[in-house]
Amino acid sequence: MSFASLGLCATILEALQSEGYTTPTPIQEQAIPAVLARRDVMAAAQTGTGKTAGFTLPMLEILKDGERAKPNEARVLILTPTRELAAQVGESVETYAKGLNLSSAVVFGGVKINPQMMKLRRGVDILVATPGRLLDLYQQNAVRFPKLEILVLDEADRMLDMGFIHDIKRVIKVLPPKRQNLLFSATFSDEIRELAKGLVNDPVEISVSPRNTTAERVEQVVYPVPKTEKPVLLMALLRQLDLPQVLVFTRTKHGANRLVKQLESSGFLATAIHGNKSQSARTKALLEFKTGKVQILVATDIAARGLDIDQLPFVVNYDLPQVAEDYVHRIGRTGRAGASGNAISLVEGEELKLLRAVQRLIKQEIPQAYLEGFTKVDLSKAKPLPKPARGGSGHSSGRPSGSGGARSGNRSQGGRG
Ligand code: AMP
Repeated sequence: MSFASLGLCATILEALQSEGYTTPTPIQEQAIPAVLARRDVMAAAQTGTGKTAGFTLPMLEILKDGERAKPNEARVLILTPTRELAAQVGESVETYAKGLNLSSAVVFGGVKINPQMMKLRRGVDILVATPGRLLDLYQQNAVRFPKLEILVLDEADRMLDMGFIHDIKRVIKVLPPKRQNLLFSATFSDEIRELAKGLVNDPVEISVSPRNTTAERVEQVVYPVPKTEKPVLLMALLRQLDLPQVLVFTRTKHGANRLVKQLESSGFLATAIHGNKSQSARTKALLEFKTGKVQILVATDIAARGLDIDQLPFVVNYDLPQVAEDYVHRIGRTGRAGASGNAISLVEGEELKLLRAVQRLIKQEIPQAYLEGFTKVDLSKAKPLPKPARGGSGHSSGRPSGSGGARSGNRSQGGRG
């Protein structure tokens, strides 16, 4: 299957080629024809499946031939749960729309509203927004939707988790009834089905990669280690694996800040991204990480939701998440759209219960590894399954790493030679 056979124009195909995309992902194969046929779509797909292009590409194909947006109007509205996701979707839209002469804007809260009002003045073909700020702009008459052609709800399940249901309903009320609706969600929970009832009309239902396939694509390993040795072990692994970019997860904001300080004082370039930071600080941190100015981005779960960082080879769970499903979200930051990825978890004795919950969810026993010079914590009671669901990890499972100490540059542990 090629993008050309899906009915996309030459300009869009060129943009895809310059991004290096050769074949559509499964969600793209299914969503693109459905959207082009002007059907409503309900798609169960996580970040990492290529869903953004799945709705953006056909949307651009539809928009390119129509009349451009009038002042203070939008032709497509894409709602996202977080500012970061809005910014990322906006970037994708710009990338894929190169050469199409379509306008787009991204609006979210936490930053000044005036520049956003200015942007909307001339009208935009595609508006990407978080619900609260969109309503503010609507109330201030900065935007109207008399000719809205398509509504996209991206990561609808997270929007509901974050309490946006009333905002979403208020937004839907101000949209014209005749429009195309595209609903994307990691899962179809009862709440999502309830929301969908009042939203989509005879939708094409698409479901790709049930939520745990991420876990199968990503090579995972657990380092059992006492809490006190975690910082030093992390630094040893960073040195040994010699990685250009690593996303590290901590359970708390405080833990993220503390870890950044420890990393910095040992000469690593690190920055934190979490809910206590201002929007501009978060954007700056993400940009510094993406451009390679800092090597290590330390994030909490909420801050990392939906972050799209291209080809991230490694994710480190400095702490295991309180909720097992967050583990799958976290490691979904690596190994995206078919690429293989690696996830390392540093697990102390007190996290045994959390490890068990994760292994139950992903239906795998995660192989364990040790680094010489570090204390071995016994996590043997973390085995919920009779035998591992998959083969070797490339890490030295369950035994010391042999030659080469923590800082010797021996790279056998990461499986990346
Ligand atoms: P998404 O699920 O929309 O967050 O996309 C995940 C990642 O996959 C993004 O970094 C995209 O740039 C990338 N991507 C999307 N579609 C393709 C494709 N057909 N081939 C290769 N990479 C893709």
